[in-house]
Amino acid sequence: MTFDWNAHRFSGGVLALDLANTVIFRETPDRALDRFSDRAELQRFAQAAAHFRKPEWGQASFRAPAAQTEVERLVDVREAINALFRTAVRGGGLRPENMATFLQLGSALVCDEPGTQDLTLPNALGRKRELSLGTAAFLSAMRLLEPARLERIKICPNCHWLYFDESRNRSRRWCDMTVCGNRAKAQRHYRRNRTQPDNDHA
Ligand SMILES: [Zn+2]
Repeated sequence: MTFDWNAHRFSGGVLALDLANTVIFRETPDRALDRFSDRAELQRFAQAAAHFRKPEWGQASFRAPAAQTEVERLVDVREAINALFRTAVRGGGLRPENMATFLQLGSALVCDEPGTQDLTLPNALGRKRELSLGTAAFLSAMRLLEPARLERIKICPNCHWLYFDESRNRSRRWCDMTVCGNRAKAQRHYRRNRTQPDNDHA
């Protein structure tokens, strides 16, 4: 099945959360769907991420994992990012167990980067560089640990994605108003008309 990695798929706002959002409907296990269950999507996600995450990463490109062990490590760091921030958004704080797993996985990923790699983020210098997708997601997540940024992370009530709310008064209610916001509006409309069939004629 071909799948379009469009702007909506990058509603997370930062690479770390976009990566976590490659699983949809996380909080309803029977509906949950992992986009990376098709391994071909890893490369396609990496390419789209380089395009959509330019404000965060400048001219960087991301290396998708190829070997099975690398794929597993990327999925592990994705799940660690999800657990760390989802727990925090739900009011559980940054838990030691989640933090330790996140840092251990991230440390291993960073160790595998070339010695001359520049890990600065955001990329203010505009230099071109290539990093592994896992390392880049880890660095993106590190920036979210600061309380002023952490409190801007939210969970979309429709699709359960994590997203970074950059609106001035933190008023964003959906990952993407044009998708999840409209879907919720349509559902409310449907329910209202179903429970009050004569509403239109009142
Ligand atoms: Zn959503």
